[in-house]
Amino acid sequence: MTNEQKTQELAALDKAHFIHPTSPIKQQQEHGPSFIFTEGKGVYLKDTNGNKVIDGMSSLWNVNAGHGRKELAEAASEQMKTLAFTSSFSTFSNEPAIRLAAKIADLSPGELSAVFFTSGGSEANDTAYKLARHYWILKGKPEKKKIISRNNSYHGVAMGATSATGLKPFRDFTNSLAPDFYFANSQSAASFRHLVEQEGPETIAAFIAEPIQGAGGVHPAPENYFKEIRQICDEYGILFIADEVITGFGRTGTMFGMEQEGAEPDMMCFAKGVTSGYAPLGGVVLSKKMHNDFKKLSDGVLLHGYTYSGHPMSCAVALENIEIIEKEGLQENAAIRGKELTQGFKAVQARRNTIGEVRGKGLMVGLEIVKDQGSQEKFPTKQAPFLIAEAAKRGLICRSVVFGEQDALVFAPPLCITKEEVEKVIEIMEDCIVALE
Ligand code: PLP
Repeated sequence: MTNEQKTQELAALDKAHFIHPTSPIKQQQEHGPSFIFTEGKGVYLKDTNGNKVIDGMSSLWNVNAGHGRKELAEAASEQMKTLAFTSSFSTFSNEPAIRLAAKIADLSPGELSAVFFTSGGSEANDTAYKLARHYWILKGKPEKKKIISRNNSYHGVAMGATSATGLKPFRDFTNSLAPDFYFANSQSAASFRHLVEQEGPETIAAFIAEPIQGAGGVHPAPENYFKEIRQICDEYGILFIADEVITGFGRTGTMFGMEQEGAEPDMMCFAKGVTSGYAPLGGVVLSKKMHNDFKKLSDGVLLHGYTYSGHPMSCAVALENIEIIEKEGLQENAAIRGKELTQGFKAVQARRNTIGEVRGKGLMVGLEIVKDQGSQEKFPTKQAPFLIAEAAKRGLICRSVVFGEQDALVFAPPLCITKEEVEKVIEIMEDCIVALE
């Protein structure tokens, strides 16, 4: 069978049987898959036709260590051969889960010290909301159950996670979500204070935020925003949850995004980069105080757990992945290469009229597209999808922000990207912008 025949066969099967997550279902049915990937190495992916493209998004912001890491495959294989699965429910435990919990506690900022494992980020956020509400029940304040999130945020697709997602189309996708979720303006701590005072602090369980909003278009928070949020939470007895699902494990240039914000959360959710996507895993790290309070106040069963909480193979992969990140200094590389990427885009911005804002931190970069810089006017139709198609033709995968008024592209390449590869990304994007103009 030739490559072309194989691609055609797979595309037909894909259209007939594979419902893609977060996909334009009609268009996908008409045109089939854009790429059927077969291999990955470093920042590169290869498809059934032999095309080689730069994975400018680390797939889903998660392949932090890059593709094709044999050490991770070996860690998975070793663990599967010795003990593929066992439950962590009740009093059962396993060595990779124990060692990973201790390692994450050690790496986490400040007082964060005890880990609850999930299979991914949405489950991590749902877990944080449930633990927050249960915490207040144990503290004798069951009326504290509202969760405040931010406009333009993304927290996943489980019922709780979607309920806290500020990007409205995700909430509108279904007509009934979890109650008691509210939204503050993402750029103003004063808006959070106002909402707390309006709703009544005695009714509010927790506040959740991404250190840098990812799916919403790569939006860092204003300076001192999180310090003020921390103060307001302390003043009113509200738990502060950091959603580090994208920003965790080196992406922003430090191990966790909040380290750069001068504020310590009570709970920190993680997923994605913890295994660089080589195995599904997520979790929530709790502060020592919360953990101690749970131990002190709870005399029943912690009635929350996923079959795959503390999955031995996923935990073994995560341990090896964290060792790679630390040994190879991938968070430092993210800081250096991230600066080069941002500066490179700013240089293109100085040459080309259609780039608006360039923003981000580490290897999370957003590029706004405007009709012209002087007026900052938008194109009548969004141009980001055109740029994505052009980039793909030239060997680069990036992603657009398809929500609301924004016309922007986002970039989050693997943290092992080299200087030359960063230059290639910039060169391809400039060619695409020229094609647009
Ligand atoms: N939180 C954030 C900030 C995310 O970006 C995502 C996914 O992109 C999630 C949560 C949900 O994670 P998962 O897709 O692993 O459920």
